[in-house]
Amino acid sequence: MNDRVRFSLSAADIPRAWYNLAADLPDLAPPRHPASGRAITSDDLLAIVPEELARQELTLDREVEIPEPVRQIYARWRPSPLIRARGLERSLGTPARIYYKYEGVSPTGSHKPNTAIAQAYYNKQAGITKLATETGAGQWGSSLALAGALFGLDISVYMVRLSFDQKPYRQMLMQTYGARCVASPSTETETGRAILARDPDSPGSLGIAASEAVEIAANDPTTNYAGGSVLNHVLLHQTVIGQEAIVQFAMADDYPDVVVGCAGGGSNLGGLAFPFLGAQLSGGRPVHVIAAEPASCPSMTQGTLAYDFGDTAGFTPLLRMYTLGHGFIPPPLQAGGLRYHGMAPLVSEAVAQGLIDPVAVAQTACFAAGVRFARTEGIVPAPESTHAVEVAIREALRCREEGVSRTILFGLSGHGHFDLGAYEDYLSGTLRDGRFEADKMTAALAELPDV
Ligand SMILES: *Cc1c(COP(=O)(O)O)cnc(C)c1O
Repeated sequence: MNDRVRFSLSAADIPRAWYNLAADLPDLAPPRHPASGRAITSDDLLAIVPEELARQELTLDREVEIPEPVRQIYARWRPSPLIRARGLERSLGTPARIYYKYEGVSPTGSHKPNTAIAQAYYNKQAGITKLATETGAGQWGSSLALAGALFGLDISVYMVRLSFDQKPYRQMLMQTYGARCVASPSTETETGRAILARDPDSPGSLGIAASEAVEIAANDPTTNYAGGSVLNHVLLHQTVIGQEAIVQFAMADDYPDVVVGCAGGGSNLGGLAFPFLGAQLSGGRPVHVIAAEPASCPSMTQGTLAYDFGDTAGFTPLLRMYTLGHGFIPPPLQAGGLRYHGMAPLVSEAVAQGLIDPVAVAQTACFAAGVRFARTEGIVPAPESTHAVEVAIREALRCREEGVSRTILFGLSGHGHFDLGAYEDYLSGTLRDGRFEADKMTAALAELPDV
């Protein structure tokens, strides 16, 4: 048995291409035009993204080359470490071997820069000067702000009001990188003004903030939209995570039986799991992939697989995904990055085909897992990432009950240094589990577009 704890590669081992699961998912449904319902072409996307990203959104090529300037920026923190969680294993008394792939080593503390850097690069190449985007907890906004600083692009971030008020230091991080951060719903867009007219105290949602950013991008030729999750090209860029992990497992002389990731829009889960699924689909060892979603915003376990808008106002292409309805406003949740009504089409199709198992977990159980992880491994997980920690712990305890050893890999998508207010609520006993209101979902699903 190998007693190394941390499996590190050198910058030369950063992958040279991203892996596209779409090439191996023959039944993946195409995005459709929001007005006509026909399958979209890359031309339809050019109002909001540059040509190369429009191409990547629709391509069925198995590999997409990573531009050298993007690899060079990745090399500032990649390859990220794969770490054997010996302390956690001991505390659980489990025969399981638990590993985590730690994305908190990036400058903004999460996996999000993996795609922010790539998107900023392609937009800069195309002569775009400004990007608009939405953010929940602020992880994505700060990552795009970082990318904007590195490539000289102006960044405007529409931040969900609830998180804007909960996480003031995330705003400060974005401003430090030179970005502009606006609470959403805002008065800067038609969408925001209409929602504020109906509900001046709206806590906002990722769907609303996305509508604001897309509205700005669609109406200004110098501004494009950058998405932090859900879209095919975003999940594509995140596959550096799983590809590195495959090489690191070879170093560890091990291979995962179970792969766990938290899922908000699906990008860190897809980034970690898709290369393993790709290996499985081409005849390699099968892996049991589990998607951990919040019980109060359970798109995969309670939602419906259907074409729906990615945003609240209905500006985005129609995506076939597990959805709670684009008008569904999830209850407040500390893991703001998981507070989204839908799930990436690639993850949704993999769930529909039985390649990924979704599981819903409650917020307080996740924080308990996060605290256990901090006390045994030393890293304070982001509230989103605690969902993966909780499910990995459950799997390890199942191994103990069954008396079998399995290798469990989970994605530690980020650290929680900007989320200590949430830990304060948990430790002081005031954190509650938000309630999922099925009747609100039913009402929102009644508004699904006709396709
Ligand atoms: C944004 C975020 C998530 C959720 O987004 P996905 O696209 O589902 O990965 C999870 N963890 C962290 C740390 C995040 O910042």
